[in-house]
Amino acid sequence: MKYKRILLKLSGEALMGDKQYGIDSVRLDQYTHEIKTVKELGIEIAIVIGGGNIFRGVQAENLTIDRVQGDYMGMLATVINGMALQSALEKSGLYTRLMSGINMEQVCEPFIRRRAVRHLEKGRIVIFGAGIGNPYFTTDSTASLRAVEIEADVVLKGTRVNGVYSADPEKDPTAIRYEKLSFDEAYSKGLNIMDLTAFTLCQENDLPIIVFDMNQPGNLLKIINGSVDVGTIIAN
Ligand code: UDP
Repeated sequence: MKYKRILLKLSGEALMGDKQYGIDSVRLDQYTHEIKTVKELGIEIAIVIGGGNIFRGVQAENLTIDRVQGDYMGMLATVINGMALQSALEKSGLYTRLMSGINMEQVCEPFIRRRAVRHLEKGRIVIFGAGIGNPYFTTDSTASLRAVEIEADVVLKGTRVNGVYSADPEKDPTAIRYEKLSFDEAYSKGLNIMDLTAFTLCQENDLPIIVFDMNQPGNLLKIINGSVDVGTIIAN
């Protein structure tokens, strides 16, 4: 196995599956299965989940909701997704903890770094909800920050596409998938992989990012096994 401790970033939108809004149970079960397969190999797994399927801070401006208020709403949305994922994982027999960047003891633990690491060492899957707990950040930045904090080996960004392409593969048939990119190459090519805060944090802390298609069954396992057939790795 190439990685021992991973930080898996799942977008909230991915949880919608074919629905227009909310959480799709088929997709949730599929993710649970993928995660369980990897967990059974003894990999330590931390997960950051987005909230875009429920609420996104930038939406707020169209609803005459203050941006900061909207961002907090977005953070709460990630907790709802985290609770759904936690339930699905536990139903499949896995041990989990949901830790939040905003204190809400009735539903989840507060994020305490040392405690998060201890949970991982004990084999629990740790889900980080409520982003970093501050407005004007994203769940991608949360993924990078938490990954650095818990000393994960890699950030795995699960998306709908099989990695980073030279052009939009749905529009341009000549688009090629990059197997590997350096952070500098990704900057100079103007590739929009994660927001810059998230990206810079990974680069400065020498933390590789792998972008891959999480919706394709078996991909997560392939990545863990170090396969170069799926995804794109961005590393120094
Ligand atoms: N958010 C925030 N601070 C954080 C993480 C998230 O303010 O540390 C808010 C922000 O408004 C964001 C929303 O939560 O739009 C949902 O997260 P995101 O859009 O990153 O989720 P995804 O696109 O991955 O579903």
